[in-house]
Amino acid sequence: AVRRQPSIDEYVQGVLSGNRVMLSRAITLIESNLPAHMELAQEILKQLLPHTGKSIRVGITGVPGAGKSTFIEALGCQLCNKGHKVAVLAVDPSSTVTKGSILGDKTRMEQLSRDPRAFIRPSPSSGTLGGVTRKSRETILLCEAGGYDVLLIETVGVGQSEVTVRSMVDFFLLLMITGAGDELQGMKKGVIELADAIVINKADGDNKQKALMAKVDYDRILHFLRPATEGWVTKGHTCSAYTGEGVEDVWRMIEKFQDVTAASGIFERRRRTQMLSWVQSMVHEYLQTLFMNHPEVIQKKPIIEQDVIEGRISATMAVKNLIEIFEGH
Ligand code: GDP
Repeated sequence: AVRRQPSIDEYVQGVLSGNRVMLSRAITLIESNLPAHMELAQEILKQLLPHTGKSIRVGITGVPGAGKSTFIEALGCQLCNKGHKVAVLAVDPSSTVTKGSILGDKTRMEQLSRDPRAFIRPSPSSGTLGGVTRKSRETILLCEAGGYDVLLIETVGVGQSEVTVRSMVDFFLLLMITGAGDELQGMKKGVIELADAIVINKADGDNKQKALMAKVDYDRILHFLRPATEGWVTKGHTCSAYTGEGVEDVWRMIEKFQDVTAASGIFERRRRTQMLSWVQSMVHEYLQTLFMNHPEVIQKKPIIEQDVIEGRISATMAVKNLIEIFEGH
C-alpha cells in the first residue's frame, strides 16, 4: 500500500507527542537524498529546533566484539527503568561502502528494542561519510524533539568514525577489552585522546583481575595526556555489560561530567563550537560539490592537471586557473 505523505504539521506534532512511527518516518525523510524530501525534512526540522538540545549525547566506540551492543543494552535498560527516554543511533562509515550495517542492528538489542521508552535506529546507509554526518546530526535533533533525553551514539572503532562521532557528542566513551592484541594499539592511541572515559568491559569471571590491572595501566597513560574535555579528568573504569556490574557507576560518572561541565560552561561552549564547525564543514562540502560538478571545470581539469604533471605550470598556477574557470572569467 502506498502511504500518504503526512503534512509538515502532522510530522511536527507526531514527533513532539512522542510517536515513534512518526519519528522514524521523519528520520527517513532526513536520510533521503531526494530534493523534495530534503526540503520537507528541513521545514520539519526548523519547526522542531526550539525543542532540541535538552539531552546528553553520549558517543560509544570500541572495536567489534568489545561489547558495545551488550553494554548499550544494559545501560539503556537501566536508564529506561529509571524513567529516562533513550535513543540509540549508529554511525557506521562501513555501511556507506558495503550498504550493510554492522551497527545498530535491532536484533542485537532485543530487550532494549522492546522497551517503549527506547528508540533504536541503525546507521543511514547511503552516501558519503559527510552525508552520514549530516543525517546523524539531524537525527539527533529529531530524537531530542521526540523527548529522548539520553542519546547513545554508537560507532565502531575504525578509521575516521571516532573523530566524526566525537564532533557530535558531549561525552565520548571508549569501550575496551583486555588482551585484544597489538593490532589494535594503533587505533587506541589516537582515540584515547578523544575519550572522556575508558571503560574496560568484560570485567567478570577470570577476566576481572586482568581488567582491573588494565584500568591501572590506562590511568597511568591518561595521566600524561591532555584531557579531551577541559576541566575533566579522563579515567579508566571497569564493568561487565554481561552481569551489569559497574554499568550504573559508569552512568553516575557521566552525570557528574554533565554537572561539572554545565557549571563551568564547557558543555554549552562545546555544543556551540560543534554547531559552528558543522556549518563550516557543510559549506566546504557544498563548495566542493559545486566545483566538481562545474561543466567547464570538468572539461579543463584533466588538461590543467596534465600541465602540472609535465611541469608546464606550477600547482599554484593550476589552482588559480581552475578557480578562474569556476568563477566564469
Ligand atoms: P560489539 O561488537 O562491540 O557490539 O560486541 P557485542 O556486544 O556483540 O559483544 C561481543 C561478544 O562479547 C558477545 O558474545 C557478548 O555476549 C560478549 N560480551 C559482551 N559484554 C560482555 C561482558 O561484559 N562479559 C563477557 N564475559 N562477555 C561479554
